[in-house]
Amino acid sequence: FPAENIRNFSIIAHVDHGKSTLADRLLELTGTISSNHSHQQVLDKLNVERERGITVKAQAYKDYLLNLIDTPGHVDFNYEVSRSLVACQGTILLVDASQGIQAQTVANFFLAFNEGLTIIPVINKIDLPAAEPDRVINQIESTFELDTSDISLISAKSGIGVDKILPTVIEKIPPPSGNVNKPLKAFLFDSWYDTYVGVVCLMEIVDGKLQKGDKIMSAYSEKMYEVIDIGIMHPEQFTTGYLHAGQVGYVICSMKVAAEAHVGDTFYHIKNPVDPLPGFEPAKSMVFAGVFPIDTNEFNRLDESITKLTLNDASVSLQRETSMALGQGWRIGFLGTLHMDVFKQRLEEPTVPYRIIYRDGTSKLIRNPTEFPEPMELQNKLSELQEPIILATIILPEEYMGSIIDLCGSRRGEQLEYTYMDESRVIMKYSIPLAEIVTDFHDELKSRSSGYASFDYEDMGYQTSDIVKMNVLINKRPIDALATILHRSQVANVGREWTKKLSEVIPKQLYEVIIQTTIGGKVIARETIPAMRKNVTAKCYGGDVTRNIELPQKAFYDFLSKG
Ligand code: GDP
Ligand code: MG
Repeated sequence: FPAENIRNFSIIAHVDHGKSTLADRLLELTGTISSNHSHQQVLDKLNVERERGITVKAQAYKDYLLNLIDTPGHVDFNYEVSRSLVACQGTILLVDASQGIQAQTVANFFLAFNEGLTIIPVINKIDLPAAEPDRVINQIESTFELDTSDISLISAKSGIGVDKILPTVIEKIPPPSGNVNKPLKAFLFDSWYDTYVGVVCLMEIVDGKLQKGDKIMSAYSEKMYEVIDIGIMHPEQFTTGYLHAGQVGYVICSMKVAAEAHVGDTFYHIKNPVDPLPGFEPAKSMVFAGVFPIDTNEFNRLDESITKLTLNDASVSLQRETSMALGQGWRIGFLGTLHMDVFKQRLEEPTVPYRIIYRDGTSKLIRNPTEFPEPMELQNKLSELQEPIILATIILPEEYMGSIIDLCGSRRGEQLEYTYMDESRVIMKYSIPLAEIVTDFHDELKSRSSGYASFDYEDMGYQTSDIVKMNVLINKRPIDALATILHRSQVANVGREWTKKLSEVIPKQLYEVIIQTTIGGKVIARETIPAMRKNVTAKCYGGDVTRNIELPQKAFYDFLSKG
């Protein structure tokens, strides 16, 4: 296929608006898969193990090679979505005719728009009784200013209108503009770990040609690799021995761990360096969780499975952590909250990275509350403390506005703007500290709006914040794993709540147990668990009780998992 007969495109949509169903329908149309129902959602099934993965499905249609590049669509993976869009020249913006534009529709639209892609709006699920295509057309015009004069109205499920999609893709989306005679420039947009062959990379060949046996170098790490296998995804790996400008496909090279496959990285032939593609950012974790086994004998087994999981996911960061009370564990960094759920481990309340700016101009990122300096250590050195802030886009029916404004207010959110999308639907923009949305914000939003509000967010960087470290002391001894970083306005409430909860989960001991929460040595709240039998205790243990405290790990664990 010459480059002018190649189209690289994607489908972007809010979750459940029918992206996977449409992708399957298109594959059936081109005969890449049969319409046999056991093949339903091939793109998804191929990726059971890659819940955040990007898939490429090459299909031949008439004289064209069409590469459908499918992205996860969830907010945590905005960077991945935007990188996968770099490998496309156009995209189908799919909107559910009964639901209309939702938060991820807006977020994904802007990612595509900012990459300069050709955007083809398509309205799906027109077979539903609740479908209101005219209303959705109005929303698309007023929100995105897209031309809807010849918009496709389809049902991906029943197949109505789907036959028009590929001709439109070919007509409207330009072919890739790469030059096969230029030096190799290959763009990595996803990877995964395969137990048999190791790391598999998905790449777009922007310029030049890449073949088996070539030696290539990462522009980011300057590490060298040799291409062992290369080909297209049709729908599984199909060896071709080479890929040339404009093509997308898989590349297996001598890469040992997925952590070396940086999404957005550029590769070139070792003797022929080229300028990397712009926009590359190494993955950065924004949500951190401490994980400890209930049974310390489980450490090795868990260590093995956690290490395996991180092999498969370059965007997870992993650090060993040791806590006095909980023993050995890990501190795992994730891109966001869904990403963390994907791990399905039982986790402690997640934290976000805070930043300390010193007067001498240096700064330090704090990913673990135990690294947070005590006020004493900061004296005369501190310039300011900062926390990560996100820009939230919330779309909802107007009758829920009051309740959602309350929610955002209680999470230290600041309303930036709100606009009506049509007579009854509102888009609100808020800046909210990331720490306030990592736990139950999304659940709360859904329950307060009977499921009708949708939510998406993007990074707004760091802002000054009055944050403090709260310590938990058991009989005057600080418990590292329970230290937490908070906004000063929350200290009184959280301090009281924690001492109370701990006093409920820690069983009575032979001695009195004092639980305190403190900020910089100042006690915020205190609870006392009386000794089982006062007199006996005094005799047996004398004044030495504070040293031998053996708090049952289970109690801590229950406390942590309840947050
Ligand atoms: P995705 O999250 O965007 O990939 O959405 P899916 O393709 O998984 O579809 C979500 C749900 O909507 C599934 O239950 C589909 O069967 C259903 N669905 C998809 N397209 C249509 C359609 O055109 N009409 C109807 N009635 N349901 C659809
Ligand atoms: Mg899907």
